Amino acid sequence: MEFDYLIVGAGSAGAALASRLSQDSNVTVGLIEAGGDGRGPLVDVPGAFGLHAFIQRYNWLYMSEPCPGTAGRRHFTPRGKGVGGSSLINAMVYVRGAPSDYDNWAALGNRGWAYDDVLPYFRASEANSRGASAYHGATGPLAVEDVPCNYAAADRYIAAGVAAGYPANPDFNGAETHGVGRYQFTIRDGRRCSTRAAFIDPIAERSNLEILSDCHATRINFTDRRAVSVDLVRKGHPFTVGARREIILCSGAFGTPQLLMLSGVGPGDALAEHGIDIFHELPGVGRNLIDHPDVAVSYRSLRRDGFSLAPVGLLHLLGDLLRYSGGRKGRLAESLAPVGGFIRSEAHVQVPDMQLHFTPLLYDDYGRKLAMLARHGLSGHVYLARPKSTGWVRLSSPDPFAPPRIQYNMLDDPDDVRALVHGLRHVRRIMTQQPLAGDIGMELTPGPAAQTDAELEDFVRRTCQHAYHPVGTARMGHDDMAVVDDRLKVHGLDGLRIADASIMPTIVSGNTNAACIMIGEKCAGLVRRDTN
Ligand SMILES: Cc1cc2nc3c(=O)[nH]c(=O)nc-3n(C[C@H](O)[C@H](O)[C@H](O)COP(=O)(O)OP(=O)(O)OC[C@H]3O[C@@H](n4cnc5c(N)ncnc54)[C@H](O)[C@@H]3O)c2cc1C
Repeated sequence: MEFDYLIVGAGSAGAALASRLSQDSNVTVGLIEAGGDGRGPLVDVPGAFGLHAFIQRYNWLYMSEPCPGTAGRRHFTPRGKGVGGSSLINAMVYVRGAPSDYDNWAALGNRGWAYDDVLPYFRASEANSRGASAYHGATGPLAVEDVPCNYAAADRYIAAGVAAGYPANPDFNGAETHGVGRYQFTIRDGRRCSTRAAFIDPIAERSNLEILSDCHATRINFTDRRAVSVDLVRKGHPFTVGARREIILCSGAFGTPQLLMLSGVGPGDALAEHGIDIFHELPGVGRNLIDHPDVAVSYRSLRRDGFSLAPVGLLHLLGDLLRYSGGRKGRLAESLAPVGGFIRSEAHVQVPDMQLHFTPLLYDDYGRKLAMLARHGLSGHVYLARPKSTGWVRLSSPDPFAPPRIQYNMLDDPDDVRALVHGLRHVRRIMTQQPLAGDIGMELTPGPAAQTDAELEDFVRRTCQHAYHPVGTARMGHDDMAVVDDRLKVHGLDGLRIADASIMPTIVSGNTNAACIMIGEKCAGLVRRDTN
């Protein structure tokens, strides 16, 4: 089997890339995916988001190494598996980050990655329900919609945010992110618009695109310095697929460095540790892991109209099921993080460095603590948008089926902790303003007793989670630790590019799905231009 282009990983970036490359009927594209076809009765139901913590079919369900900065805790690390990748299991919030994030990438020497350069790719992918504008596209494959919100407290959160002094922002993907408001979502007609639904389903009949699902890539093979084929295992049977022109890795922030290292490309010591011969030493592979640390202030709710697994909540859920099955309406047709915003931790910060999410429920650890979900509550989450701490991903074994070792090193940098302490105070100020103040009862976490910096720091270290936005582990740049150049080509090798979250030099100040899709779109443009 041989294709012109082989794409390894059919996630947010990979699906977009496959769709764009195969628009040219003169080329053939093979799209390799370790997971299945990304279909199933629950995967497209937005409100079933939390169930993915327990469903192995769509989720790699990794656990991190114990993290010193977060009291030695291991962090649950969901990653999507199947055609659609992490867009099959994400919370569907559509946010690009701040324009200055991309300008910074360009300022680091990455030509073609300033916001003005990448905006056309964001616009091309998008079918925004508000129509086309300077910032938005209306005719792309990816639905970006204003979704009706059935949680009354959500709009009171926005009003409380405005009362607390933050501006109302109707479009976080417009001129700037600052302020509070409703998010837009990758949801269409009450269904999750994963990259499978957006980019792959509509073109399933294209004869020049072959989707090789249930095929786990175990190694990239090289002739001289050129990547020429990929070893795969499907249901226990090994086989090899060739690439006439290029192999493009889109296996995500963990899968991409893992596959590189299994193929002898990476830091010499990390390979030697597992007896893997060094084919091409690239010390940056697996380094620079960045994610958004997330903490929350939670309150008992005085109303019973949020999401909960308490008896009243279960009755609501029954009604929700009926409304959804009767026409894909109601709370199962929306995300559980309907509103939020972007704020500055301190007055001197220019571009908002904190992201807010309001959830009409109590949850911890991706909802895996069911006892918490059984209470009625409201939570104000705050993410650090541009943390300084970085971690790493390495092999745990030369076995390609073994999960990678993931060390987030969250809160390693004291500035990150300090900013989150400020963040908690901002959240408290919003949550206790009218009109939201009428909804909340006692503060449950950190609890009214925690007031000093030291008390809040202790809370941050004991409870901080990451936001499931890992990036940066094969970063773009031109220094010794860079893995790809600004055309996404792996330094020192031929015929091999990377296009996924791992190439981000720094994390974007917001949820990462839109940026990954843009990277897939942009990669298609680069490949096409280089070929022509
Ligand atoms: C629980 C959760 C909630 C999130 N919520 C949001 C949100 O609301 N908004 C937002 O913008 N972002 C969100 N994100 C983040 C966002 O979804 C990801 O950043 C984005 O999907 C990553 O895209 P990617 O292309 O880099 O990788 P992925 O989409 O993860 O794709 C990688 C693909 O490669 C496949 N793969 C890996 N290894 C191999 C191999 N060896 N062989 C073959 N295939 C392989 C994987 O199975 C997967 O399909 C969330 C993520 C998670 C997990």
